[in-house]
Amino acid sequence: MQNKIPAVLDLTVERGCKYTNKCKEKKYNYDQLPTTSVIITFYNEAWSTLLRTVYSVLETSPDTLLEEVILVDDYSDREHLKERLASELARLPKVRLIRANKREGLVRARLLGASAAKGDVLTFLDCHCECHEGWLEPLLQRIHEEELAVVCPVIDVIDWNTFEYLGNAGEPQIGGFDWRLVFTWHVVPERERIRMRSPIDVIRSPTMAGGLFSVSKKYFEYLGSYDTGMEVWGGENLEFSFRIWQCGGTLETHPCSHVGHVFPRQAPYSRNKALANSVRAAEVWMDEFKELYYHRNPQARLEPFGDVTERRQLRARLQCKDFKWFLSTVYPELHVPEDRPGFFGMLQNKGLKDYCFDYNPPNEHEITGHQVILYHCHGMGQNQFFEYTSQNEIRYNTHQPEGCVAVEAGMDVLIMHLCEGATPEDQKFILQEDGSLFHVQSKKCVQAERKELSDSFVPLLRDCTNSDHQKWFFKEHMV
Ligand code: UDP
Ligand code: MN
Repeated sequence: MQNKIPAVLDLTVERGCKYTNKCKEKKYNYDQLPTTSVIITFYNEAWSTLLRTVYSVLETSPDTLLEEVILVDDYSDREHLKERLASELARLPKVRLIRANKREGLVRARLLGASAAKGDVLTFLDCHCECHEGWLEPLLQRIHEEELAVVCPVIDVIDWNTFEYLGNAGEPQIGGFDWRLVFTWHVVPERERIRMRSPIDVIRSPTMAGGLFSVSKKYFEYLGSYDTGMEVWGGENLEFSFRIWQCGGTLETHPCSHVGHVFPRQAPYSRNKALANSVRAAEVWMDEFKELYYHRNPQARLEPFGDVTERRQLRARLQCKDFKWFLSTVYPELHVPEDRPGFFGMLQNKGLKDYCFDYNPPNEHEITGHQVILYHCHGMGQNQFFEYTSQNEIRYNTHQPEGCVAVEAGMDVLIMHLCEGATPEDQKFILQEDGSLFHVQSKKCVQAERKELSDSFVPLLRDCTNSDHQKWFFKEHMV
């Protein structure tokens, strides 16, 4: 579900090259730093990636800071993870292996590790990582300075095919999300650059990607650790991120700490629990803004998500701030849709029965530049979700960054452009009382038509007529 690969376009073998020298100059007072337990949960992981993770922790962590490495086997069934793994690990200092008695999912598996941990700080890692020299000190130093900070390393890329450590483009990125509750990467915003006192200061991030972070053990427990009602994978990263911020902590990335991670093409397990987990996060933390999520993913509203009473009680007990505060203070870059009744959902044609606006960008990093088509209405939100705003835009805002339907000069096709602050003329459409969709700049109307020499249909600009093929209406979803 979640596309967690950072948008590393210009991959350099230099890991965070711009910062390396400054980071190397940094001195640490090792006697003062807290110790850490490194917790690595795994489910059916390959031998080489798992062992690479363990060895890299042992080789790069200063002895005085590393209390232990706790491996939690989440009830794997692959043969090499049984006796063979136990005897391999038995030879290693500080490494402990805990096995779950049933499949717990990553949340409860991490908590198994946390409950056995003896260090002051919990450091969670995925089971296919490589820690880079000097990764640990900045994380522990920051928590020593500020106990309410949850700190992530920069996640470098390890090629999933060759397993080469590719590193990352020079600048670390921060985490966000879109209204489908999919995690997204962003460049560091201007306001944050101004706040940072140096290029090697921590970078505040609205959300974390997932499994790689350090947190004071005491603070983790105070914050309510994790939501144990979450199964397998997904959603826990946003839930924890919202909770950290709303309940008084900070979530940061330390530019001097680098850990490589393999982003595999496919996980060795099904991720269909991610939806229920996201719904739990939305139900507990998002207040009325959860509706924006449900509008874009109507399936989520139907998903059974279990009991969240205790998590809501936790929120009340800790007197956490509301989601509105989170959006305006921590993540002001995220556009909050208006979702006016009757003006969001599928954009359906009246004459061409059961055909809706449809837009499928080729990938998550390339939202713009392609043609809007018509396709059978499916009512599942996602690529058929559009919002008609009070600024007369037809916004495609399930993804980040958001697209706005536009028409290029002299053309008759509808193309997705990036939305802009003030709506440009070519992105202005007026949805009139009678259902006609009037493009202001060209003074033409949007009409449903068969695409030449094909069986597919498209919306095109034509002279305005009274035809039902020029009438459009929004419908929230099928059921
Ligand atoms: N994991 C686990 N139990 C599960 C699913 C995942 O212990 O049911 C572990 C997994 O082996 C990995 C971590 O949780 O160490 C995060 O999962 P994964 O790497 O598949 O997620 P991604 O990095 O792709 O988001
Ligand atoms: Mn992973």
